[in-house]
Amino acid sequence: MRYDVAIIGSGPAGLEAAITLKIRKKNIILFGKKDSSAKVRLAEKIDNYLGIPAVSGSELADRMLDHAKRMGVEINDTKVSMIYPYGEYFALQCGEEMIESSSVILCAGVAPAKTIPGETDYLGRGVSYCATCDAAIYKEKKTIVVSYSKDYEEEALFLRKYASEVIYIPMYDATGLSLENITVQAAKPLEIKGRMKANTLVTDSGELSFDGLFVLRDQIAPSSLVPGLETEGSAVKCERNMSTNIPGLFAAGDITGEPFQLVKAAGEGLTAAFSAVKYLASKG
Ligand SMILES: Cc1cc2nc3c(=O)[nH]c(=O)nc-3n(C[C@H](O)[C@H](O)[C@H](O)COP(=O)(O)OP(=O)(O)OC[C@H]3O[C@@H](n4cnc5c(N)ncnc54)[C@H](O)[C@@H]3O)c2cc1C
Repeated sequence: MRYDVAIIGSGPAGLEAAITLKIRKKNIILFGKKDSSAKVRLAEKIDNYLGIPAVSGSELADRMLDHAKRMGVEINDTKVSMIYPYGEYFALQCGEEMIESSSVILCAGVAPAKTIPGETDYLGRGVSYCATCDAAIYKEKKTIVVSYSKDYEEEALFLRKYASEVIYIPMYDATGLSLENITVQAAKPLEIKGRMKANTLVTDSGELSFDGLFVLRDQIAPSSLVPGLETEGSAVKCERNMSTNIPGLFAAGDITGEPFQLVKAAGEGLTAAFSAVKYLASKG
């Protein structure tokens, strides 16, 4: 089955795109956190969301989710680790699954400002963003997981079912953390090195060799998520209708650059949805 539109991100941009596409009766799939966006929830008091003054981020997120649910929007809590543009359609790697969609709207929030030197150069050549997708490739091999969130501890345990060794490097406060049959190591990654394939992680406490290295963080740089996607700095380059250089691929919200604001994100989500509808119509 091929969806009309796949939306990546359940923050204000993604949810607005989703409800607009539901109104236009499109067959959509929405990926993101079930509780919307950590960023929205962090705001103590929001004063510039038109019509809802002095609202807390948490309340606004709940209202957005409730609105989306009423419109029949469901959230698929799976991280999309790769989007392949194939001309007529897109293939999306979501965990172990691959799904197809005729168009895509990227609403994944601000891209990470910093990657580990060498990370993007070796992506797909010893470096991966998804342990559940690529675990089987590293059967009986030595692996390292650099994890930016507690949420990825499960993914490391899954990887350990295949790999002979998993070294887990938490980039968050993980005092006292213990994971079964996994070495939890405090270190700061400085560089990924190798030749044809990556094989060494340089850290502040020495070098670690590996067959496979997993970098697990919520946000993936847009150009790593979609091969060939044009960016300006870390933001996705867009036209006024939110189209990108890849036909059928649109972007909205913080991922398109400043200002990083809720109303701008929601507005771009709506524009991107309208543009996706137009694109689908042009394809018949
Ligand atoms: C403390 C704080 C206070 C703020 N206060 C205000 C304010 O008062 N007013 C204002 O207008 N703005 C405020 N903002 C900014 C506002 O929160 C953002 O501009 C807004 O959340 C951007 O929405 P978005 O949908 O573009 O991205 P986000 O809200 O960042 O949502 C991104 C979504 O994408 C998902 N995602 C990312 N990558 C993937 C992937 N690969 N696969 C699947 N899902 C993925 C994430 O899980 C998340 O659900 C504040 C931000 C912070 C941090």
